[in-house]
Order: sequence, then C-alpha cells, then structure tokens
Amino acid sequence: MNQTNEMLIELRKILQEFEKKSISGDLRDRVIALVPGFDAIREIGKSLVANGLQKSARDRLLSYFLEYPRTVLSEKELAVVAGISEWARRVRELRVEFGWKIITGMTASQMIKAEELGESDIILDDLAPNDYVLIDVEQDRDAAHRWNVANEIRKRPEGSRQKILEYLRRNVGKQVTGEELSYVAQSTEWARRTRELRTEEGWPVVTRQSGNPNLPIGVYILEEDRQAPAHDRNISDATRRRVLQRDKFACLNCGWTYEDWNPSDPRFLELHHVIHHAAGGTNEMENLQTLCNVCHDEVHRLDK
Ligand SMILES: [Zn+2]
Ligand SMILES: [Zn+2]
Repeated sequence: MNQTNEMLIELRKILQEFEKKSISGDLRDRVIALVPGFDAIREIGKSLVANGLQKSARDRLLSYFLEYPRTVLSEKELAVVAGISEWARRVRELRVEFGWKIITGMTASQMIKAEELGESDIILDDLAPNDYVLIDVEQDRDAAHRWNVANEIRKRPEGSRQKILEYLRRNVGKQVTGEELSYVAQSTEWARRTRELRTEEGWPVVTRQSGNPNLPIGVYILEEDRQAPAHDRNISDATRRRVLQRDKFACLNCGWTYEDWNPSDPRFLELHHVIHHAAGGTNEMENLQTLCNVCHDEVHRLDK
C-alpha cells in the first residue's frame, strides 16, 4: 500500500472524528477536531509530487512547474503541492536565486494590455493575478546576478521608464523577463513604459510579439545599446509586426532570420525606410523593409 493511500485512511478517520463531534454540537470541539485534517491534507499534497522521496517544498514546486510548463497554475494548486503556507516565498526563490522563468498572472495581464503577449501565447482563460506560469523550461544561470542589479536600479529616484531603460542597458542582448521589468519599474504601467522605449525612443527592445517570434513568452531583449535615429522612431507596433510578417521575418538583403542567430554574430532585424524619412518617406508599411542590422548599416554606409 502506498504512502498516499495510508494518508487517505488517516484523513478519513479524522473526518469521522469530526462528524462525531458535530453531533455533540460544541463549536470549539468541532474546530479542534478539524485541525489534524489540515495537516493530513497537507501531507497528502506533498506525497503527490514527492514520489516517495524527501523533497523540500521548493523542489516539489519546481517539479510541478517543470511537469506543466507554459500552463497557468493557480495559487491554490501550488499551496497543495508545497504543503507549507510560505510557498510564495519559495516560488520567488526559484525565480530570483535559481533563474527559473516564472511569471505571475499579474505580469502576464499587464503584458497583454501592452500587446506584448498574444491570445495564443498562453492559455488565458483562467489567468488570475495570483496565478503563475513557467514560461521556459531552461534555467537562466545569470538570473541571480541580474536580480541584484534590478534591486539596485529599483531604488533610484528616476521615473519607471528611465529605470527600465537602465536595466535593459545593463543587460544588452540578454533575455530578461517581464517579472524583472515590473520589479525594477515599481509601476503597474511597466509594460506600457517598455513599449514606449521602442516605439517613441527607438530602442531595439524586442519581444515575441514585436520582432522575434522565437523568443519565449514574457521575455524582452534589448538587442543593441543604440537608439534608432529620430526619423526611424514612431513606427507603430502594429505596422512593425505587419512589415516583419510580410517579409517573413527575414533580411530582404541577405536572408538572415532569427533561426540563424548565434552568439558570435548576434544580429537582429530592423526596419529600413525605402524613401528616407528626411526625404519625405513615411512610417507606413509600403515605405518600410526588413533588414538585419549588418545589412542595414551597410545600406546606410553606401548611401553616404
Ligand atoms: Zn542582412
Ligand atoms: Zn535605414
């Protein structure tokens, strides 16, 4: 007979005891009779994930997240699996100290509002603020260091957009999560502020909705520590997406795509104005072309 079955028998006994007290009717007797039930349920919850092994609450939570990646998990489920009341702190450790890319329903809903997540990216039906999603099964070894940086920038007196930019510039070319940006910004508007960095200030901040469809959900990258020239800014996200889709996310000159990305040649895609903005070219789709940053630089070099 396995551990869980033994515990179920124990729980039934406790409930029978509780029923007996209910007949006698004293309120406090009934409450006290129910107390061991709480512990018993907790133990059953733990045994489900532990597979007979002695695992810590944090390890149980991690196995559960890894079993159901990209799935919305509710706080109540996680409480059952963890078997401790301080489980949320353990989830935070998984994220901050161990670099598991776990985002909250709150963060995801703020990204959806800023159109950085699409309907198909996660199952959004029951996404509540206190739900959690493991967005990628790869552990990010660099995360602990980044959270220290985040903590330092967060305390600065600047506005949230400035703090997000500082943080991204300290992490050029690295995947950072919405959870980190939200923490740095200390504002529920962080996703909107981040989008403005791209659309208004011309920083190449890319998500899966706005540039690189290969990125995991909930992840941002500042591709390069350089702002687009003023005339290349103010391209709306909708236009950017349509141009990239029209050009099949490939450089029109050399055919580079994000599939070809490698660390020794970390390219990315940009939009080029066919008729230069200075010469009256518009920010409309017809005047825009997808180029990789290497070809884009080359085009402008030859222009001069
Ligand atoms: Zn190219
Ligand atoms: Zn250009």
